[in-house]
Amino acid sequence: MTNRRDFFKSFAKPLVKSEEEMTSSLLRPPYGSTESLFQSECPSCESKACVASCDEKIIFITKDGTPILDFSKNGCTLCDACAEVCEAGVLSLANTESATRLNAVFKISLDACVAHHGVICHSCKEPCIDDAILFNGMFNPVIDDEKCTACGFCISRCPTQAIDFRVMELQGQTHGQPQGQPQGIAPTV
Ligand code: SF4
Ligand code: SF4
Ligand code: SF4
Repeated sequence: MTNRRDFFKSFAKPLVKSEEEMTSSLLRPPYGSTESLFQSECPSCESKACVASCDEKIIFITKDGTPILDFSKNGCTLCDACAEVCEAGVLSLANTESATRLNAVFKISLDACVAHHGVICHSCKEPCIDDAILFNGMFNPVIDDEKCTACGFCISRCPTQAIDFRVMELQGQTHGQPQGQPQGIAPTV
């Protein structure tokens, strides 16, 4: 008899997300202003203080010496800690736009999500304190872009890896400009 884990696995493997559906990319920590500032300042930063400051342990340094987020175990609480310790000013509380949401758009794959195939599963809804995952009755969850802060906590909770995100370009957010178009850059970790 098929157990619960095997049942979810049957969705995770064959129903892989297509490339055009969602492509995870380099997601910077919050409180940033421009991608160019990460690239110009972070490689020469000796302390990499943002890494140790993060209680959620989601900041990692790539081969080029710049920080990215990894949501495979936890998400971002927008706790301010990384911005408070960044002496180079790459992460700053003055960047008000990226202090309230991360520069990514989240989506649930209709193929991979079991709740889009008649199975009751609310695993992603529970960790979403922004109440951004909307169900139609018991089924068919979608993410409300207006409410989603891109915190990432839902990703590790999904038993079929049905949630992914697309990184948006940072554009000098201190002045509150729009977030721009998806970058589509490949991870280099
Ligand atoms: S502390 Fe600031 S400058 Fe140093 S790696 Fe982290 S974000 Fe970059
Ligand atoms: S805001 Fe807090 S939880 Fe989010 S990346 Fe920075 S230190 Fe980690
Ligand atoms: S839907 Fe958005 S706000 Fe809710 S847990 Fe997922 S990333 Fe966070």
